[in-house]
Amino acid sequence: MSKRILIAIVTLPLLFLLVLGGTRYAADSLAQSLAPPLPPPGRGERGIPILMYHKVNPDPRAGGLGLRVPPQKFARHMEYLADHGFHTVSLTDVVDHFQKGKPLPIRPVVITFDDGYLDNYTYAFPILKKYGFTATIFVVAHTVGKTNTFDAGRQPVNKMAGWRELKEMADYGITIGAHTLDHPRLTRIPLEEARRQIKESKALLEAGLGRPVEVFSYPYGRYNRELALAVRESGYRAAVTTEQGLACLGDDPFTLKRIRVMGSYDLQKFITELVKHYYPPHS
Ligand SMILES: [Zn+2]
Repeated sequence: MSKRILIAIVTLPLLFLLVLGGTRYAADSLAQSLAPPLPPPGRGERGIPILMYHKVNPDPRAGGLGLRVPPQKFARHMEYLADHGFHTVSLTDVVDHFQKGKPLPIRPVVITFDDGYLDNYTYAFPILKKYGFTATIFVVAHTVGKTNTFDAGRQPVNKMAGWRELKEMADYGITIGAHTLDHPRLTRIPLEEARRQIKESKALLEAGLGRPVEVFSYPYGRYNRELALAVRESGYRAAVTTEQGLACLGDDPFTLKRIRVMGSYDLQKFITELVKHYYPPHS
């Protein structure tokens, strides 16, 4: 073998890796340089982002990218938040801040997951732990340890987290919230049945976890004044919707807005969605 061929064999893969790495780095810095600037590092004065995720799963058979964020992308989101000085807080921290002036850390953010998929434990939980982040998982109480029967036919079959996984995550500091018993559209069922879904999911989760359940998420984001009141009267301290925006001082704690994160977003789009709702400082 000639020396020239030998050199080519050794250097070509190295060159390839270098170009690949460089392109990725360039794409990242481009994404960040094109993104709107971050707000000054306040403590929630300009609103608090509550991110909304569902599935975190690499398997396309688990569902489309509307509800499913691949773990690699989720990891990039968390890395971005950590690198830019964000600190995760719970929804009750946010409400305590609004109601009692409890101080929040610099750049507070709330990370939430709806429905209670097993993949939250398998894929998202290790990434959250890596950054010391907390989150809130809203669980459909009747599907714990089962499958997503609530959207059977419209979504592929997904495994839901069981009591063991939920307890382990709660022990670490993940908040478990309620997302009704069966995931109905609460505005389309009789109010009495809606009240039962809100109240009994809290009791069932509290019994299973051995800890209080204080936060709620409306399935499909459907709510009205009566339902918000029912959530409050059932003993919850806060509830989230799917309306887009930040949680701001003066908001009703039972109709908090969130920021949807989809699997189709690249890092640039994630950053844009994260920062676009912050309002300017008062002059
Ligand atoms: Zn849901």
